[in-house]
Amino acid sequence: MMLPLLHTSENSASLATKTAPLQEIFSSVQGEGIYVGKRQIFVRFAHCHLKCAYCDTPMTSPSGQCHVELPPGSGQIHYYPNPMQPETLVELIQELLPTARHHSVSFTGGEPLLYHQFLSTVFPLIQSQSKTYLETSGTQASFLESVLPWTDIIAMDIKLPSATGEAPQFENHAAFYKLAHSHPPTECFIKLVFNENTTIQELAAVEEIVFDRKTPIILQPETSLKDRKVYLNPAKLFEVENYLAARFEDVRVIPQTHKMLNVL
Ligand code: SF4
Repeated sequence: MMLPLLHTSENSASLATKTAPLQEIFSSVQGEGIYVGKRQIFVRFAHCHLKCAYCDTPMTSPSGQCHVELPPGSGQIHYYPNPMQPETLVELIQELLPTARHHSVSFTGGEPLLYHQFLSTVFPLIQSQSKTYLETSGTQASFLESVLPWTDIIAMDIKLPSATGEAPQFENHAAFYKLAHSHPPTECFIKLVFNENTTIQELAAVEEIVFDRKTPIILQPETSLKDRKVYLNPAKLFEVENYLAARFEDVRVIPQTHKMLNVL
């Protein structure tokens, strides 16, 4: 049954810590990481505390409202006011889940963990119906704590300054990985966006942070913001891959595939 398209957000100010600004909700195919190709529901949060040079994600939706594509792939967008209540998101996920054989619900951004109180309400409500998949910058360990018991999969970035253009986050990543790894029911893999400027010193830092050599490492060559293509010298690709493959059991090179499919 379709939900009413506009919900009132009374008391949203007083519930500020329990609501979240969302950009879009849609069903599509995962384009990155070890579950590439799997059908997922995507919940995209607004805002991020980082400013990666390669970031292709707008930090808010054009209308300021949450855009929901229903039915999937139709291009029909329904608008919901922000910030959204957790119950509204759960109803929308329940609406989308039966429209395909979804592997999981991906919470992405922006940085979803900025709204960890919202997530810690939503995750227990959907976990009996679907796996929860958290896409995160991997820098906010204290925010992960309350969400971790209900998180099935963590796609954790390790931000390399050569690609982000920002200061190193290695200490934050180390604390985050340690916490994620301490809860074995939660599966965690690492995503590294890298480019021509990536150094062996940065890869050595990754080696130190990711102490479990069985943790999958996904190497994602940076995609150009101009034309959505990858420009990387094969010699650099193999230098990076060789270094990590000599130290970890499962290293894969996977570019962003959803950009090839031209899907959301
Ligand atoms: S962490 Fe992700 S959303 Fe935030 S700036 Fe970097 S790429 Fe963009």
